[in-house]
Amino acid sequence: MSDYPSSILQQALTGVQKLQPYQPGKPVSELERELGLSDIVKLASNENPLGASPAAHAAVRETVDALHRYPDGNGYALRQALAAKHDRDIDWITLGNGSNDVLELIARVFLGPGRNAVFSEHAFAVYPIVTCACGADANVAAAQSVRQGQRYGHDLQAMAGQVDNNTRIVFIANPNNPTGTWLTSRQLREFISGLDPRVIVVVDEAYFEYVDQVDYPDTSLWLDEFPNLIVTRTFSKAHGLAALRVGYALAHPALTDLLNRVRQPFNCNAMAQAAALASLKDDVHIQNSVSTNSRGLVQLCQAFEQRNLDYIPSVGNFISFHPAADGQSVYDAMLRAGVIVRPVGNYGLPDFLRVTVSTQAENTRFIAALDSVLDQMRIA
Ligand SMILES: *Cc1c(COP(=O)(O)O)cnc(C)c1O
Repeated sequence: MSDYPSSILQQALTGVQKLQPYQPGKPVSELERELGLSDIVKLASNENPLGASPAAHAAVRETVDALHRYPDGNGYALRQALAAKHDRDIDWITLGNGSNDVLELIARVFLGPGRNAVFSEHAFAVYPIVTCACGADANVAAAQSVRQGQRYGHDLQAMAGQVDNNTRIVFIANPNNPTGTWLTSRQLREFISGLDPRVIVVVDEAYFEYVDQVDYPDTSLWLDEFPNLIVTRTFSKAHGLAALRVGYALAHPALTDLLNRVRQPFNCNAMAQAAALASLKDDVHIQNSVSTNSRGLVQLCQAFEQRNLDYIPSVGNFISFHPAADGQSVYDAMLRAGVIVRPVGNYGLPDFLRVTVSTQAENTRFIAALDSVLDQMRIA
């Protein structure tokens, strides 16, 4: 690309010129190709180790006969079911091609040159991408220190301090990925109440189903109180539908109308709509997924503690840990052992690695691979 005229590249928005592309977890097929391995365990993208609900599989099969039809661009059946679930009317729901799509819609409605979005250090990587892609500035607030409570967690006071007259959006991940840190009902309510009510607050609840802390807020219940609030949820995590790309926003109908103006007409595909609708009815699958995750969190935390490895306590389906060695080297050696985890240096956490909580068997495989990698590094 070095022979490409820089005069053309310089025409891109300044924000886009500064961006790095999102780095996804390594796909299993890529590792198979590169190292000729089989029997690979992928713990890199916070996917549900139990897969999707059997009802979702069946629903997808039923859509196959209508591949030539456009999906329902209004997503009526799925939005209706979501509206019922949240005890709202349908005009409070916006569907997205994953919740990342919804985050981008919000940015496109409210951001642009001369405006900014506020979010925390170590926050989800999509916030800077959607912000800078619109030509807006990212006002990044320093995270909490050990002394304040949740190390690496969102510091709401620092975030409030980053809000200025040009701020249009505050992004909050609760819990946050990759730190797994979370905010209590009281903390979050106090923060939103104290904010200029013209600033849009996006609370990203991608891991909502997994969290069992009593003080953890369901902010979808706050929408009447705060007309500037947008809550996002996804089917990619606990519902196990990451491949299909479906998420949604809950917001006041007036905000939903704005989002709908910039939404691509068929952003949520037919299979995704059908699978999500079926999955919503399968409470048992969600319960199994959540209880598998709770046991897995205990298993992994115990393993880290027994080995004296530092980790960030998490309420999601992933844990960031410090392997007490060069993170990239440990990551590479784990790949050769057929276990894919996720480096999080791009999140300002160099040397930490993030592992997805999985079944007991896969967690055990991860721990064994980590032990052997760390042993080899000590010998070398
Ligand atoms: C995984 C994740 C999402 C969901 O992304 P989708 O586009 O719905 O797959 C959103 N926010 C956070 C913090 C996440 O970790």
